[in-house]
Amino acid sequence: MKILFENAIVYTGEKLLKNAFLAVNGTKIAYVGDTRPEGCFDRVINGKGKVVLPGLVNAHTHLSMTLLRGVSDTTNLQSWLFDNIFPIEAKMTPPMKKVGALLGMAEGIACGTTAFSDMYAGAVGISEAARDAGIKLNISRGTTEFSDHFDPTKNNDAIEYVELFRDWHGFDNGRIRVDSSIHAEYTSNPDTWEYMVKLSRDHHAIMHLHLSETEKEHREGIERRGKTPAQAFAEYGVFDVPVLAAHSVWAEPEDLVWIKKSGGAVAHNPISNLKLGSGVFDSAAALRMGVTVALGTDGTASNNNLDLFEEMKSAVLLSHIRAGMENAISAEDALKMATVGGAVAQGRSDECGVIREGFDADLAVVDFDRPHLMPCHDVISNLVYAARGSDVCMTMVRGKILYENGEYLTIDMERLNYDLANVLDELFPGKNTRL
Ligand SMILES: [Zn+2]
Repeated sequence: MKILFENAIVYTGEKLLKNAFLAVNGTKIAYVGDTRPEGCFDRVINGKGKVVLPGLVNAHTHLSMTLLRGVSDTTNLQSWLFDNIFPIEAKMTPPMKKVGALLGMAEGIACGTTAFSDMYAGAVGISEAARDAGIKLNISRGTTEFSDHFDPTKNNDAIEYVELFRDWHGFDNGRIRVDSSIHAEYTSNPDTWEYMVKLSRDHHAIMHLHLSETEKEHREGIERRGKTPAQAFAEYGVFDVPVLAAHSVWAEPEDLVWIKKSGGAVAHNPISNLKLGSGVFDSAAALRMGVTVALGTDGTASNNNLDLFEEMKSAVLLSHIRAGMENAISAEDALKMATVGGAVAQGRSDECGVIREGFDADLAVVDFDRPHLMPCHDVISNLVYAARGSDVCMTMVRGKILYENGEYLTIDMERLNYDLANVLDELFPGKNTRL
């Protein structure tokens, strides 16, 4: 299919083009510029009043937790997790997790998200949901081990990883990839870390982990091992592979250097960190150090939505508080975190993250013909400070339109609603969770 956007505003990730033309040929961007390209097109889209962006990358999620939206608003990670979330998760079956993941994907797709980096048990079902939804997914299973040793034949995470790498790593020409994963320093041991590093090496996979999310976690890690969680990981070769470090709120400058050297990124989750009272990541300092920063929502249960426009705005506003006005990040910095930063975090910077000829046609189109986006003195300012996920009118992955003007083209929403009703009845019997 050949598609041409004409007379659109295009933010390529490198520059802003007005009255621009953007041609998509099959799965790829064939042309972007200010003159109409030659040739015939199957569809010509009038881009007047529209802004075309690289698709947004949600670099840290637990999509199946969308079933737990609003189930607990406790402001303390440990209590929220151990007293409220874990007991419900223990009742979630793989088919339930798949339904939750598809619901999360539907929400993200409608907000311009073209790729997720997800971490959860039941990763096979989440991969199946991404297969059906047509979205890009880096899937991982947050590996935990609470004994002193690690036996990959007995650890449930390691057992699922065998199937994940066999069936899903590189699925659909790399649309789905598998990341290896250590859930966190405090939920695993060095044997686990070494095993996961080996998986990353063997499969050229990213290492997705939680790092120094709360002060308590960071301080207790130091008490336990005499060094920060990142320094402990480094000793076992974890940063010899590209690391996607979620949160890193309490990570120290030397810890961030490890992330940078690994070729990976921090997944900054500003709203989740605020909601759980974990703190504010110093994104401005990280950018000054040359660390790649991506944006994530974290699970819906601690956010409580998957709208990356909210994350972009929050990232800038919080950087004013964290680093001081004169050192804060810009609106464009936040936009880059959600696009090219996310592509680096997923190991996809050679295929997407910017709008460039030859790159995958992963696009989000924002309708600026809305009262809250008028007037438009500055496109990027409006995108980051005024736009909402619901202003997205089209989401495209590899040239395929997944969502347009409120319609899902790959997800059967009627079926999803039916499945969701059954799952919620089973998971929360007697509780009316649907209005
Ligand atoms: Zn997380």
